Amino acid sequence: MRTIFDYEKRSGTGGILPKLDVPVRRMEELLPQELIRHNEPRVPNLSEPEVVRHYTALSKLNYGIDDGLYPLGSCTMKYNPKMNEDVARLPGFASVHPAADPELVQGSLAVVHEMSQLLCGIAGMADVTLQPAAGAHGEVTGMFLLKRYFEARGEMQRTRILLPDSAHGTNPASAATAGFSVTEIASGPDGLVDLNVLSGELDDTVAGVMLTVPNTLGIFEENIVKITAMVHAAGGLCYFDGANLNAFLGHARPGDMGADVFHFNLHKTMSSPHGGGGPGSGPVAVSKTLVPFLPVPRVKVDGERYYLDWEQPQSIGSMHSFYGNFGVFLKAYAYILTLGDEGLREVGENAVLNANYLQERLKKTYKLPYDTLCKHEFVLTGKGVGDGISTLDIAKRLIDYGFHPPTIYFPLIVHEALMIEPTETESRETLDRFAEAMEKIASEAKENPELLHDAPHTAPTRRLDQTRAARHPIMTYPFEE
Ligand SMILES: *Cc1c(COP(=O)(O)O)cnc(C)c1O
Repeated sequence: MRTIFDYEKRSGTGGILPKLDVPVRRMEELLPQELIRHNEPRVPNLSEPEVVRHYTALSKLNYGIDDGLYPLGSCTMKYNPKMNEDVARLPGFASVHPAADPELVQGSLAVVHEMSQLLCGIAGMADVTLQPAAGAHGEVTGMFLLKRYFEARGEMQRTRILLPDSAHGTNPASAATAGFSVTEIASGPDGLVDLNVLSGELDDTVAGVMLTVPNTLGIFEENIVKITAMVHAAGGLCYFDGANLNAFLGHARPGDMGADVFHFNLHKTMSSPHGGGGPGSGPVAVSKTLVPFLPVPRVKVDGERYYLDWEQPQSIGSMHSFYGNFGVFLKAYAYILTLGDEGLREVGENAVLNANYLQERLKKTYKLPYDTLCKHEFVLTGKGVGDGISTLDIAKRLIDYGFHPPTIYFPLIVHEALMIEPTETESRETLDRFAEAMEKIASEAKENPELLHDAPHTAPTRRLDQTRAARHPIMTYPFEE
């Protein structure tokens, strides 16, 4: 593709810039020497339409949820109503300065307060902090809460977190970041936590267990109430990773199952676009025991006035500047109020229905290692589809059929994993088209494997060196010197 920089050597000016209105001498007094530019910046000379066309062409190379199905397992890439973006953009909210006096932003504080109450109701928990900026940030916040709780009780020997091998990858990282050591609990052949293995690990060095609910196989822990009772009896606490809340939204509450900490991924469950590093939000809800340790400031209400409460001597401190990513709360708030109790229940039902519909159809063509009713997602394996065919080949070929590939090679307990989460916002017709593409690919794998090995054929780029792209990204145009 031609890039904007191909025009670099063209002479002339591309746009009309306002005159420099900062006295140059003054600038030199203000800026440190090493920051002052001595040469003209190297920018291409382009006209406005050329710039617009360049960026429009780039935007068309992207694939997003507004283009089609995005069945990325463990990510809940669902369609998010545009109305919620309008709500987040209302000037009365969007123009508020985060350092404004609380007296002047009562409406915004009311949203934070009401949103907290709505989330507590949905989770069945005592209180919540909206500060964390993402799911993993919520996890580490939750782990700090556990840490502070055991410090307050003088149980410093509780340094271990038990984690099933079906947990999300961020869980062990968060536990370790907070200074815990991680003990892995092997799943049984049914994909569930093995209660005997769990019981063998429970002692007074255990701070708690971290469960992804439902787990990354898309399976609900049937023994969840037993598990939390066992951990509590051993003096530990229970962390639930709630990024998969879509699966039981409006049907069950983590608080009723014995959770002490539960994080939401508002940018998955509650209508905020995500991916590309856009702002997220990972509120952390807690049981009564952990409320005194929540981050400050807390937004509280005294009669009619909302205020910030910093007076929490046992708090772990602040986890985010100001109150967190406010724009994301607004979208989630609009989403919850629009759908209401009944609508949220239907989200849960349709997420599960869509996943099971696809699972039942695709398990005839692809192997399903854990064959059971799934929740919001399921994990196939690409193994056995064709000689020398890998899951990566299948994923790349899906691009040729116009679909974003599912999550691959995760979770690790399934070899050559294909982790599919259709979400509740897809129609039956879309699911059928996706299933047809997957079935065609399985036939091609046997009849014409080269088609898969060389895929994608239609995308602007072929196979990328993913390791180099992640480790050594080139973020700026490399000018020739
Ligand atoms: C996405 C996800 C996370 C991490 O959330 P981020 O917002 O990406 O940090 C954690 N656990 C599960 C199960 C997830 O799906």
